[in-house]
Amino acid sequence: MDTYARYPLELVRGRGVWVWDREGRRYLDAVAGIAVCTLGHSDPVLRRSLCRQLRRLQHVSNLYRIPEQEALAAAIVARSCADRVFFCNSGAEANEAAIKLARKHGHLVRGIQDPLILTAKASFHGRTLAAVTATGQPKYHEGFEPMVQGFRYFPYNDTAAFEALLAECEAEGPRVAAVLVEPLQGEGGVNPGDPAFFQRLRELCDERRILLIFDEVQIGVGRSGRWWGYERLGVEPDAFTAAKGLGGGIPIGALAVKAHADHFRPGEHASTFGGNPFACRAGLTVIEEIEQRGLLEHVRRMEALLAEALTDLAIRHPQLVESARGWGLLQGLVLREQAPTAAEVVKAAMAEGLLLVPAGPKVVRLVPPLVIRPRHIRKAVKRLEKALMALA
Ligand SMILES: *Cc1c(COP(=O)(O)O)cnc(C)c1O
Repeated sequence: MDTYARYPLELVRGRGVWVWDREGRRYLDAVAGIAVCTLGHSDPVLRRSLCRQLRRLQHVSNLYRIPEQEALAAAIVARSCADRVFFCNSGAEANEAAIKLARKHGHLVRGIQDPLILTAKASFHGRTLAAVTATGQPKYHEGFEPMVQGFRYFPYNDTAAFEALLAECEAEGPRVAAVLVEPLQGEGGVNPGDPAFFQRLRELCDERRILLIFDEVQIGVGRSGRWWGYERLGVEPDAFTAAKGLGGGIPIGALAVKAHADHFRPGEHASTFGGNPFACRAGLTVIEEIEQRGLLEHVRRMEALLAEALTDLAIRHPQLVESARGWGLLQGLVLREQAPTAAEVVKAAMAEGLLLVPAGPKVVRLVPPLVIRPRHIRKAVKRLEKALMALA
């Protein structure tokens, strides 16, 4: 169906940070399947590990114990604040699980009949009905009304507005089950969370036993230079979701919870494909390789290089570029109002052999594989500058 406005580009092969189209043209990939291909394309270790898993066992069912799933859950628990994990197949599906968990928490812990979930404006949580309702962008709701009941929206990083909304919602007693929020808004414009705002969120949620749930689907699994985006805020959530980068290109999603938020009982939530041996092998290998190759530290070094190069670009072209922002290898170049749109820059960059993705109308997003090297970063920013010049 016509669900995508696709670029006229057909990619047929990839290796590391590079992809090739049918005509043999080579592109530096600063999209990585939108923050998915953590280890780059066709990584030899991931490839071998997945081939081995395919020869052994691909899919059974959650009717049975799945050792690869238990190992991946243990790996996530060992590297996060969570104690238990549920597996599914995508980011939206992980958020759906989180939304069901939130409602159960509201009923069970706060005694709420009709629970509300608070989410941020300009957020992105996925396209299934509840996840898109949680997404605080009206353009994604239009044409699909009625939306799911029980969501209210606050402006991101605005403590006073959040407190006012919470007070309004709880004027007649407990109503709010959870707050669902990204530590850094990815698709909404690469907006990093403000630690002071998040610390206040944590206090307010603790006071009322409201679940604080982080959507780590884009910023999680090492992309921030830490395992999880929340580590950059100094605030732990009660639960968080992950997906994109977790499988390195194999579909997988996860909801991870602390013990006190472990509310699902057998039969209450499920997925046919979720947590299958193949996808979990991918997740395990990605986590092992991030560690083996020291990629968290590497991302922090690349963050400094990329941020500096983008800031230089902003200084050299003040009439086009407003600023650069982001964490780790999720960076955004903010374009001025009078400058070309992000979509135009992305198109011009493609002609220069660089793949980029917009994050809203005026932000160009760079989310390359975590294995990107300094020479690739220099090349990417050079090509981005050429694209800007071609438009100006
Ligand atoms: C991409 C994304 C989602 C949705 O993930 P899908 O796998 O496309 O369903 C949810 N939340 C965030 C923060 C995302 O970036």
